[in-house]
This record gives sequence, structure tokens and C-alpha cells, in this order.
Amino acid sequence: AQLDTLDLVVLVALLVGSIAYFTKGTYWAVPKDPYAASATAMNGAAKSGKTRNIVEKMNETGKNCVIFYGSQTGTAEDYASRLAKEGSQRFGLKTMVADIEDYDYENLDTFPSDKVAFFVLATYGEGEPTDNAVEFYQFLTGDDVAFESGASADDQPLSSLKYVAFGLGNNTYEHYNAMVRHVDTALTKLGAKRIGSAGEGDDGAGTMEEDFLAWKEPMWAALTDTMDLQEREAVYEPVFCVSEDDETTAEHDTVYLGEPTAAHREGRAKGPFSAHNPFIAPIVESRELFTVKGRNCLHMEISIADSNLSYQTGDHIAVWPTNSGAEVDRFLEVFGLEGKRHSVINVKGMDVTAKVPIPTPTTYDAAARYYMEVCAPVSRQFVSTLAAFAPDDASKNEIVRLGNDKDYFHEKITNQRFNIAQALQSITSKKFADVPFSLLIEGLNKLQPRYYSISSSSMVQKDKISITAVVESVRLPSASHIVKGVTTNYLLALKQKQNGDPSPDPHGLTYSITGPRNKYDGIHVPVHIRHSNFKLPSDPSKPIIMVGPGTGVAPFRGFIQERAALAAKGEKVGTTLLFFGCRKADEDFLYADEFKTYQDQMGDTLKIITAFSREGPQKVYVQQRLRENAELVSDLLKQKANFYVCGDAANMAREVNLVLGHIIAQQRGMPPEKGEEMVKHMRSSGSYQEDVW
Ligand code: FAD
Repeated sequence: AQLDTLDLVVLVALLVGSIAYFTKGTYWAVPKDPYAASATAMNGAAKSGKTRNIVEKMNETGKNCVIFYGSQTGTAEDYASRLAKEGSQRFGLKTMVADIEDYDYENLDTFPSDKVAFFVLATYGEGEPTDNAVEFYQFLTGDDVAFESGASADDQPLSSLKYVAFGLGNNTYEHYNAMVRHVDTALTKLGAKRIGSAGEGDDGAGTMEEDFLAWKEPMWAALTDTMDLQEREAVYEPVFCVSEDDETTAEHDTVYLGEPTAAHREGRAKGPFSAHNPFIAPIVESRELFTVKGRNCLHMEISIADSNLSYQTGDHIAVWPTNSGAEVDRFLEVFGLEGKRHSVINVKGMDVTAKVPIPTPTTYDAAARYYMEVCAPVSRQFVSTLAAFAPDDASKNEIVRLGNDKDYFHEKITNQRFNIAQALQSITSKKFADVPFSLLIEGLNKLQPRYYSISSSSMVQKDKISITAVVESVRLPSASHIVKGVTTNYLLALKQKQNGDPSPDPHGLTYSITGPRNKYDGIHVPVHIRHSNFKLPSDPSKPIIMVGPGTGVAPFRGFIQERAALAAKGEKVGTTLLFFGCRKADEDFLYADEFKTYQDQMGDTLKIITAFSREGPQKVYVQQRLRENAELVSDLLKQKANFYVCGDAANMAREVNLVLGHIIAQQRGMPPEKGEEMVKHMRSSGSYQEDVW
């Protein structure tokens, strides 16, 4: 008899099953290269032939709890992992963590009622989903949500789906926690049952971690009731198996020494370059922009020639950083790893659904230097988990106290701005050599690229991207040390090296400037590009108003560069008004000389209004200058000007929004609410654009 399709499916399934049995699943337990594995939207799962059906996946792997995350910078992903661990260790749930873009949503109506789905969703930018959650969000909130079974929205198709929801947001943005709110509403409308409240963490108020901790206890209580779970004494179970490989040396060409992907390691990295496959870009020029000692702002020109990458004026570039040698040493020392820092380690998931977040095999040194966020602020929950591995009773008791007492933790750790190694050093001088390395991989985020608003025009320099980055170096009165930003101090070291300093060592930090296997020598840095909606009007004759104090001026340098070039070509360019603010004209007025040159090209079309906060007896900020120029601003808006704000999200952008509402109301003789409404309308129609962080 001929084989029909069903026979073939059965045969293939049997074959796959036998391979699975004989290889004990090792072939697909862990993607060989986790970075390459989730390259694009139709990513990992599809490419490697893995199922995109979550129900099938959970049945196959014996799970009853999936924790989906929508994450941009890694925090939501971290919370998802923590919930998975806690669910498994405290309540015996069979948990798995899932990148929300790795699965389909059309079959969520078949989600069994004895299982639960968590949604841990960050809100990005102006109330938008994170890149990996775009499709999910569009599916769920679209007008005609359609499930595979054919059920329509009116049928309450998700009535068997139990879910838990937590959002990560920032109250300084207008659409605070929009993602979790909209998804929660959509799920409920489709008949799904939420367990506990929909949690909201607020990064703007700096309470994200405590909001999360406060939300999860009642949520667990509600989930315990609904699913009839028994709480038990949580015992640490590693998520990853970390084994040292004595046979292989660090130089062996299979070992990742900091390379982002397998192709980079093998020296055959090629495009398309993306967030999962950075381009190792040459820095062709770098210089200091501030003229004052003790503070730094870097201007860098990064070449993307021969990369096939392209950008548009207003886009962002992401820089993949390297941790400083000083902090890598501290980290390895505190955890008793400095003697074997170059030992080769293999990292595997204990469970088939555990995705290894760092490339493997690697070394302890490379993991700490290139793959783990070892300098970040520490969470109370993570510090608590270290108590079981403390070197003596005194430090164990201290850690338990820190874990239980929120205020004490804030005083001793958070307010001191310690990273994990500094925090443990403040407790004892003894080493924490018993901490399993898996716990560190679980507890620390993977090292994240940082974004910079591109400060050049793609029309003027299409192969060269400028960035304008202020070097983070903060000493708080309460803290005993200076907090150094990871990426900006690394960039500072690169600048020092490029400008002839043989051993760049900003603030005693030291860096592996030449990168893994010297591949970044000649001053290279891994980058990728993120396209944004922050764009000049397509018609250059339209006026524009830009508000960009400090490094907020970055994209506006690009805007002005572009409009000056158009003017020089004889095109009609509309009024180009910039509000810029800094401390003092002769200290930190970014690009002051360049702007003079542009003014020569553009004449009166370019107007720059400045606010210097430390020159007069009274502090003056851009908001005040806006108010003083209300008539000009209002006139330009009547001529259909676009309005742009870039820089500090916490205070400046919010106030500018308010001031603009007042200006409109006052100039047009309207009540204040009407002015606010007009600004809202400008936002939704795209004539008020923000690029804030
Ligand atoms: P990080 O190490 O990430 O530290 C960030 C902050 O956290 C610092 O203030 C630091 O003091 C604090 N911190 C670090 N460690 C701890 C700790 N252990 N405890 C407590 N606090 C700690 N920046 C620019 O300069 N120019 C731009 O054009 C620009 N554009 C951006 C565009 C976008 C879309 C976004 C999202 C951000 C942009 N940024 C820009 C900010 C930039 O991405 C980085 O956040 C910034 O440069 C700091 O990075 P870093 O790695 O040096 O600091």
C-alpha cells in the first residue's frame, strides 16, 4: 500500500522519538548557539524544527506552568526565570520559561484548565510592546482575533485559560504599564481567568523590585488555592549543570572567549547583522566633548561600511559592552573562582526547556567579562538565595536579615549602590566559594547592549554613525564608592586607547580592549542598529521644534546636520528651532562650534535657544525658555511644526509636555485641559515625538 500523509507523519514521529530516546534528548536539550537560535521573529522554534505549539510543548515536557516573557532589556526575562524557579521549588509546579515570540497564539483556546500561563510583560517606549511581544500583542488586541478552532471573540474562547500577569513599566511615561493592562483586558474579554491581581512594577519610582516582591506573595496564595498546590520548604535546585572540562584549554577553537555567536568565534561572522548577530564595527574617530575636568562626554564615529547595515536619521545604535577588569576580578575573587578563571566550563540546562543564556563552552573569566551583568544593582531575593552558601554562620545570619528586612536591605545594599560582589564584600571578607555557578547564571541578567540615539544624519554620512555618550560616574552622598556605568566607561577606555594612551585605565577600571582572541583590536566594538519612529518630517520645508538638553541633543545634531546639508544644496528648509540646556556655556555646551558652522549654512532658519543652569544666580532650564518663547512656539505649531523631545524621561520630558499644553492653551485662549488634549492629539498623530530614556 502506498504511504499516505498520515503514515509519513507517524513514521517521522517514530524516528524522531527513537533518536530522542537513544540520545537522551541531548541533541535538542540546549541550542548550540543560543544567540543564533532566536535570530528573527520567525525564530528559534521554527528554524530548528521545534514546535511552536505551547500546549504540545508543555505536554511533551510534562509542564503545567509556562511563564511567557516580553522583554527588551532582560529584566522581564529575569523576573520570568525567578517566578519559574520559585514556582518549582516552593510549590512543586512543573515550570518552563518561554520567550513569547517562540510560540503561536492561535491555539491558546486549547490551553488546558489544569495548567497555568504567566505573562511577564514590559512596556517599551510610548506604551509599545517589546520587540519580542509585538506579534502576540497584535494578535490578542486586534479587531478580529481568530483562533485555529474557528472560535470568535464572542464565544469566550479562552475560558479554560488560567493566567497570572505582571507588568514592568515606568510611571514617567504617559502610557504607564500599557502592555500588561491591555493584555489583561484582552484576555479577560476573551474569557480567560486571571489569578491574583495584575501586578505593576514601576521603574520610574525606582520600586520595580519591591513592587514585584509585594505582588507575588498574594499571587502565590491565590494560585495555591486555585490549583490546589502545597507549599514546601524551598530547596535550591540548579537550573543549569555547569561542568568543568579539564581536557580542553581556553585557547581551543570551540570555546567562546567573549564572542557573541558561533560565527564570530569561528571568524566567519557575516550579515545580516541584527540584535542577535552584532557587527564588530571599527571606531574611526573619538573625542571628548566637555571642556571641564572630571566629567566626560564622548563623541564617537562608528563605521558601518561593508557591513550591509544601514540607518536612518533618528535611529538608535546598540553597543555591546565589556565589563571592566576591576569588577571581573572582584566578582571572580568573591566567588572563589580567580584561581581557575580560564578553566573551560560547559553549561547545560537540567531540563529540556531551560535555555542557557550564555554561549557555552566558555570560561569563568569570559562569562563574567562578556556575558553576565556583574555590575548591576542587586535584588533582595537574589541575595537571600545566597544564605545557604555563606562561608560562616555570621554572614549567613546577616544575609537572612538582609533578605527579610526591606529597610535594612535598602540601607546596607541598595543605597550603597553595590553590585553583587561589592555587596558580599561588605558582609564578610571571606569568599563565597560554595555558591554554585548555576545560581549566578540564574540570578544575574545576561549582559545587555546599551542604546544610543544616533547623532549623525544618514543622508550626510551613511556609512558612519555618530554617538554622543555621557560617561556615567556617580558618587552619591550616601554611598561609599563611585558607581561607574559599564558601557560608557568601556567606551571611554576605547577612546583613550585610540588617542594614544597605551594602557587605558579610566578610574582604575582596566579593560580587555582588544576583545576575545584580539578580535576587537584596532578599536572595534560590537554594535547593532534599532530602527525608531523618531523621524524628521519628509517635507524639509516644514518647521521643527526640538527640545534636547544634555545628551538629549544627540539626535538633533543629526537632524540639524541633515537640514543644513539640504539647505546647502539649495532646498527650502523650514525653521529649525533647538532648545538646548547644560550647566555652563564654556563647560558642556555640546557641539557649540559645529552649530556655528551650520548656522552659516542655514542663516536665520536655524535658531538655538540655550539655558545654562549654573551661570546665573538662578538655575535656568529648557522648560523655562520654552515658556519665554511661547509665541514663537505657538506660531510654528500653527505652521504645522513637528515637536521633538529627547533626553531625560524622569523630569524634563514630562515637564516639557505640560509646558507645551500651557503654551497652546494660553496662546489660543483655551482652557488648560484643551491645551493638554491638543498635545495628546499631536502625540497620536505623530507631530509630537519623544526619544527619552
Ligand atoms: P550602566 O552600567 O547601565 O548604569 C546605568 C545607571 O545605573 C547609572 O546611572 C549607574 O549609576 C546606575 N548603576 C549602575 N550600577 C549600579 C548599582 N550596582 N547600583 C545602583 N545603581 C547602579 N545615553 C547617552 O549618553 N546618549 C544617548 O544618545 C543615549 N540615547 C539613548 C537612547 C535610548 C533609546 C535609550 C534607551 C538610552 C539612551 N541612552 C543614551 C542611555 C544609554 O543607553 C545608557 O543607559 C547609558 O549610557 C548608561 O550606560 P552604562 O552601561 O554606562 O551604565
